[in-house]
Amino acid sequence: QAKMAGRNTVRFFDPSMQAMATARADLEKDLRRALAHNQFKLYFQPQMYRNDQVVGAEVLLRWQHPERGLVSPLEFISLAEKTSLILPIGRCVLDAACTQLKLWERSAYSRQFRLAVNVSARQFRTVDFVEQVQQALNSKGINPELLELELTESLVLENINDTILKMHALRDMGVRFSLDDFGTGYSSFSYLTQLPFDQLKIDRSFVRNIGVKTSDAVIVQTIIGMAHNLGIEVIAEGVETEAQRLFLEQHGCHACQGFLFSKPVPIEEFIVWHRRLRHQ
Ligand code: C2E
Ligand code: MG
Ligand code: MG
Ligand code: MG
Repeated sequence: QAKMAGRNTVRFFDPSMQAMATARADLEKDLRRALAHNQFKLYFQPQMYRNDQVVGAEVLLRWQHPERGLVSPLEFISLAEKTSLILPIGRCVLDAACTQLKLWERSAYSRQFRLAVNVSARQFRTVDFVEQVQQALNSKGINPELLELELTESLVLENINDTILKMHALRDMGVRFSLDDFGTGYSSFSYLTQLPFDQLKIDRSFVRNIGVKTSDAVIVQTIIGMAHNLGIEVIAEGVETEAQRLFLEQHGCHACQGFLFSKPVPIEEFIVWHRRLRHQ
């Protein structure tokens, strides 16, 4: 293609594209090494009922890079998806979440709460995804109701028939589903009645503007109302202020997650935080 391009046209391989391709290849190599050397770590962020009751936690992936330090999933999940590395990574996260649930059960550490795990499209579409989840649960003997899978609108709509089949199979086992980043994607909600979601998760972009932008406060109220009408729960993500929390509670939002309570932290910190919460 580059050879055919004329004198005045942009060449296919300009230096900046070459640099980008190299950076990508480096990152991919690093990702493979990360997997082999267990450089992925789970962080936990509590999901709260009112101000003082933990109902669950979302599991958020971090990469403990030997030189770059802690790397955000925003910097590597999309490449992991493109290279299929998300498959072993996703399985790792699922297994680790189940291991954590088992530890909690054994130690009777608290009234057990749920763990929510993010699932990527590539991972959900694998033919044996249902079996993978079942295996992760069975191998540790976990009550499936303690596992919640977070799916996005774009994921569920990408292949609605496959989505319906897999969600129902997992739902029949008792696994819970939450619709992540709700409100940012499609505007047709008809699919919602076909899919066994237990919860809508209001996107942070709307929560942030409660008290700032009337239209976003209205959207938040509408989403809460929609969840009530569908007979499912609703949680807000990115809750940072008491004013936001209060608005959400007063309008019937079941749960909140955000920096107001805790940022995502390693498990040891999460346990310390929770102990302090219970004794305050
Ligand atoms: P998400 O699932 O929507 O997760 C919520 C993100 O919002 C997290 O970013 C969290 O740290 C951040 N957050 C939570 N509360 C607040 C708040 O009060 N204020 C602000 N400013 N931010 C808040 P994080 O951990 O960087 O994750 C980003 C995205 O990466 C996630 O968005 C999710 O889509 C993806 N991700 C994370 N872990 C995994 C994983 O294990 N597998 C897959 N496939 N994706 C993951
Ligand atoms: Mg999520
Ligand atoms: Mg989210
Ligand atoms: Mg989000």
